[in-house]
Amino acid sequence: MNILVINAGSSSLKYQLLNPETQQVLAKGLCERIGIDGKFTYKPEGKEAVKEADVAMPTHNEAIKAVLDALVDPKNGVIGSMKEIDAVGHRVVHGGEKFAKSVRITDEVMAAIEECNPLAPLHNPANIIGIKACQALMPGTPMVAVFDTAFHQTMPPAAYMYALPYEYYEKDKVRRYGFHGTSHKYVTQRAAAMLGKPIEELKLISCHLGNGSSIAAVDGGKSVDTSMGFTPLAGLPMGTRCGDIDAGILQYLMNKYGMDIDKMLNVLNKKSGVEGLSCVSSDFRDLENAAAEGNEKAALAQKKFAYEVRKYVGSYAAAMGGVDAVIFTAGVGENDKAIRSMVCQGLEYMGLELDAAANDVRGKETVISAAGSKVKVLLIPTNEELMIAIDTAALAK
Ligand code: ADP
Repeated sequence: MNILVINAGSSSLKYQLLNPETQQVLAKGLCERIGIDGKFTYKPEGKEAVKEADVAMPTHNEAIKAVLDALVDPKNGVIGSMKEIDAVGHRVVHGGEKFAKSVRITDEVMAAIEECNPLAPLHNPANIIGIKACQALMPGTPMVAVFDTAFHQTMPPAAYMYALPYEYYEKDKVRRYGFHGTSHKYVTQRAAAMLGKPIEELKLISCHLGNGSSIAAVDGGKSVDTSMGFTPLAGLPMGTRCGDIDAGILQYLMNKYGMDIDKMLNVLNKKSGVEGLSCVSSDFRDLENAAAEGNEKAALAQKKFAYEVRKYVGSYAAAMGGVDAVIFTAGVGENDKAIRSMVCQGLEYMGLELDAAANDVRGKETVISAAGSKVKVLLIPTNEELMIAIDTAALAK
């Protein structure tokens, strides 16, 4: 079964054709500068990549057309015809409270996704354009929507409610939603397989640490709390996002510098996080190099980040009444042994001990805790495309 996975943004579109049963990726790539001039990247498995061809892409329709043409191309294609694409899985950022699971896309589902647009005004409209472009070019092929928020819909009210006037929840849907759900779901399922236990019997803490970062407490396979909130600005400090701060700071800075709320949010989203704190970079590789050369702010940014991750690990262990394993995933979690080691420092009291030699590893599914560690520490590369393809295949049958 071949599943085309589409992740559509406002001016870009990532795609992957894969078989969820064999986990084989047949081809993948990226359409960029949609609506501008159009740049197309295509990498067929086992064949020479057609790199960065200029393809006119006034809209997402031309981008999808370029993807389909490349997949069936006699020379560099990987399938004989479009009939060999059994279903399309679309990443959709926000499913609000309407979607606790992936769904087959119907007219009603499209309307419900559109109703979530105000909750993710930058992302959902782009996801919808991607779905419509696929529907136009592949009528009759089953389409499935997989939401970043769905996995967290199992949170109890005490975790998802903010202590604001209740009417803002009732009337305006202001609550914690959480994101990165597809990744947290994938790595926690893999963790259960690695530990050889049913996921229903496990308390897991999943640390998705990338450019955007979030942590989830997953009890018995269900998300019971997560660090991102109403928007992906909340929780941990990230590459350029501030994470949780005192809301009173907004009034103070806006008054002092005559900033309007858009300017203020631009600072919080794009100029803060480890980049803002270090005055060096949002990239943890740059922080590490700068810290090694004696840059104190870069070292502080690393410390602050690891400190906040450690605090979440402690608080989620408290929230679940224990923890069996802590998982590291995404760009930083999979690659940065120094950050993993800093996060785990001082957690021996709760039975968590890292093995320094085992931690000296990158991007490989492996146990990195010491042999006697009661709480296991796992490195699990995330694979959101595979998770989307698995859900899509199940719903398309
Ligand atoms: P996104 O949130 O964009 O999906 P990723 O999960 O791909 O982000 O993570 C990207 C980040 O991972 C980079 O900004 C960088 O900080 C970090 N990263 C990637 N490789 C390494 C590495 N070898 N060592 C440390 N950090 C790394």
